[in-house]
Amino acid sequence: MLLKELRKINTFFPPCRPGEVETVTATAELIGDISPAFPYLNAIFKGTIYNPEARTLSFRQEGRGVTLYPENMLVAGCKNPEEAKKVLGEVKDLINRTYEDKDTITPSYKTRAKLTALGIYKLLPRTNCGDCGQATCMAFASKLVTEEVSIDMCKPFFTDEYKKARESLLKVLKDAGYATPEL
Ligand code: SF4
Repeated sequence: MLLKELRKINTFFPPCRPGEVETVTATAELIGDISPAFPYLNAIFKGTIYNPEARTLSFRQEGRGVTLYPENMLVAGCKNPEEAKKVLGEVKDLINRTYEDKDTITPSYKTRAKLTALGIYKLLPRTNCGDCGQATCMAFASKLVTEEVSIDMCKPFFTDEYKKARESLLKVLKDAGYATPEL
């Protein structure tokens, strides 16, 4: 088993801005270096941000942010400390399962640039038309970062009016390792 144990589990409420929902973050120290699992997790998860040199891997799981270091783990965006501890345990199991299955997974060393929702939003039509099923373009941009939606769901973006912005954003997405439609 790659990750034998979590220890020194700590949960806390990080500072939040007015209007934001208060969430819990949990951290844990790990018994064992889990970085050998990162290329395999990077291969099977969508929207991961992998830095092989720094040996860090971040991804989202059911709306929570997970960041893995060789001997530490952080989970953000949980409702309460109990949920945060449960998610830490789930991520531990996930790491071990993935590493046990490594012979069936082609490892990926692909590094994605960190995309921000605001950076994407600036290139979208910003009309909040709702055609993509999201209430606003900003909501769409946030989900695009985590690959919960795909860029081709924004139909207005594929009209002549947005040709230049489209070329820019598709290049940014492609360079960052996201799936993009052919122009
Ligand atoms: S379809 Fe495009 S323009 Fe309309 S709300 Fe969605 S992202 Fe914005």
